[in-house]
Amino acid sequence: MGQREASFGEKVKDVLRSVVDPELGVDIVEAGMFKGAKLEDGKAIVSVALTIAGCPLRGPIEQAVKSRVASLEGVREVEVVMAEMSPEERSIVMDRVRKLRHDNPEATEVPPSCHVIAVSSGKGGVGKSTLSVNLACSLASRGYTVGLLDADIWGFSIPRMLGASARLGGKDGKIHPHILEVGTGSIKLASTGLLVESEDRALMWRGLVLSRAFEQFLKDVRWGAMEYMVVDLPPGTGDIQMALARLLPNAEVVVVTTPQLSAMKVASRAANMARRSYLHILGVVENMSAFVCEHGAEYEIFGSGGGSRLAGDLGVPLLGKVPLDPALMEAADTGKPLVLSKPDSPAAKAITAIADKICCELLVPIDDSSCTARVSQLAVKPV
Ligand code: ADP
Repeated sequence: MGQREASFGEKVKDVLRSVVDPELGVDIVEAGMFKGAKLEDGKAIVSVALTIAGCPLRGPIEQAVKSRVASLEGVREVEVVMAEMSPEERSIVMDRVRKLRHDNPEATEVPPSCHVIAVSSGKGGVGKSTLSVNLACSLASRGYTVGLLDADIWGFSIPRMLGASARLGGKDGKIHPHILEVGTGSIKLASTGLLVESEDRALMWRGLVLSRAFEQFLKDVRWGAMEYMVVDLPPGTGDIQMALARLLPNAEVVVVTTPQLSAMKVASRAANMARRSYLHILGVVENMSAFVCEHGAEYEIFGSGGGSRLAGDLGVPLLGKVPLDPALMEAADTGKPLVLSKPDSPAAKAITAIADKICCELLVPIDDSSCTARVSQLAVKPV
């Protein structure tokens, strides 16, 4: 390629940085869709590769490319040659887009210093919400302000588990979370369960107002100061998990699984999806581990080994095993989380130990994280 063509290609590349693929949320150069351009007798030939041939945005992208390139000096005519990316190219692009989103998150109302713990699972019914609620209560009981975001938009259960029913209020165009005092700390709760009248009604709203609820919970809820935020994700690997990676890229993921080996395989899918989105996995919690009867005998009702196997496969710590304990279920049904109502029960102790591990060992402890001054003092202190 001659000198003239190369510099023309650079000019085209520059102007195409303003063409954003609305689906990917990045410009077509950054996304690797611009493949080159040349100028022949006033005719610009621009090559663009779409992620898929039938891309519904083909027309608008072609139009935008034409109008940008037509404004360049010496161009009388523009031809856009559209191609389709190979699966390998597409996978590289998607990886690049996820990395870009991770590095350039959109602004939310969650303070940047807040530790976000996202509780995830491969399938429903493994105790993800139970763990989220009790984890949030355990952190709050240490005197922290803890956000609790019920991101299980359609399958919300957290308000019931906390006995909260008040509607969320609005002020200054922002939604205000529901506040529950827990010892010297507090929980700031947001859930679609506090916006809609019933679960049936939430299903009716599905795909309409609620499809953007997760994003709105992060951008339109006045969270204010808080040290931790626990996010109860819906099961699986859908849009909300992707939005989490885009909006809260510093979230630390906790994967919940039952001891069954088949459950662990499903959970590993959720973990791998989190990793592909550049989210850090903090560890695995095995829930519904062996039931211990009053005489001390253990019954492995849901099998054994799933949690440590998953943690080993992922190369992350096993944060703890929460035994199968009917008290945990009863506590959830009566709106009184077990770590607060029966802190000495085996399941409550297991969850408290998990919270300890998270806030004292794995994440930067809050008391130290805001203390750069003290750290610098220590650094200059004579020995
Ligand atoms: P998920 O959020 O994964 O769908 P939930 O937290 O709603 O799961 O739990 C599903 C059911 O299992 C609930 O009735 C809950 O009370 C019960 N449960 C969760 N963990 C335990 C446990 N360790 N022992 C006994 N019951 C539990």
